[in-house]
Amino acid sequence: MIYLKTEEEIEWLRENNLLVSATLAELARHIRPGVTTLELDGIAEDFIRSHGAVPGFLGYNGFPNSLCVSVNEQVVHGIPSSKVVLKEGDVVSVDCGTFMKGFYGDSAYTFAVGEIAQEVSDLLRVTKEALYKGVAQACPGKRIGDVGYAVQEHAEKHGYSVVREMVGHGLGRKMHEDPQVPNYGARGRGPLLKPGMVICIEPMINMGTREIVFERDGWTVRTRDRRPSAHFEFAVAITKNGPDVLTDFSVIEKALDNN
Ligand code: MG
Ligand code: MG
Repeated sequence: MIYLKTEEEIEWLRENNLLVSATLAELARHIRPGVTTLELDGIAEDFIRSHGAVPGFLGYNGFPNSLCVSVNEQVVHGIPSSKVVLKEGDVVSVDCGTFMKGFYGDSAYTFAVGEIAQEVSDLLRVTKEALYKGVAQACPGKRIGDVGYAVQEHAEKHGYSVVREMVGHGLGRKMHEDPQVPNYGARGRGPLLKPGMVICIEPMINMGTREIVFERDGWTVRTRDRRPSAHFEFAVAITKNGPDVLTDFSVIEKALDNN
């Protein structure tokens, strides 16, 4: 069942997703060689709580932390650990959620740790571009398949592959609502987009094979070939005037520029 949101509810969702964006910007100031992923988790939890929200992921389906932090070949759902120390040349995908005023925020960004290889930098750029291509389709009258087609087409044009097992989703009073939002698909197929829908578009794009493996910790997903993966996520409201992105990457990128 797809829940359409009122304008007021969309503003509460925006507040949540702007807090997620601000949290990711705070993390951008701390991501460097030598930091552990558990330290990042603590910074995020403190930041979220100090702004009157609770971490949306903590305890969600039993998840033990506030962030999903996935390094290099890890695709999503990496568990923060004091044993995972970031090093020069890594890429780290940080997925962050908040909950306040009865609604969730959910957005993700993949960061470079120091200088990274050109081919990895290209993967990050194309994954973010693919997200924007998907967002451009998030208009009334389009369908979920139009979003997925746009993401897939852009990623595959650059020789990358699209993870199939995990998908985007509706966002609201629950973290994962209908509809599912795959990062692949056929134009003109799937649920119709209507004003009031809020969806998370979140391409997970692999440099090599699209095949993934679930690690024994029960959460972490990695690429089968251990080549890198990237993940960017926006929450987007569908309005009569087109997509209204509730996430703000500009605050993250400003923080990165000032590092
Ligand atoms: Mg997310
Ligand atoms: Mg999500």
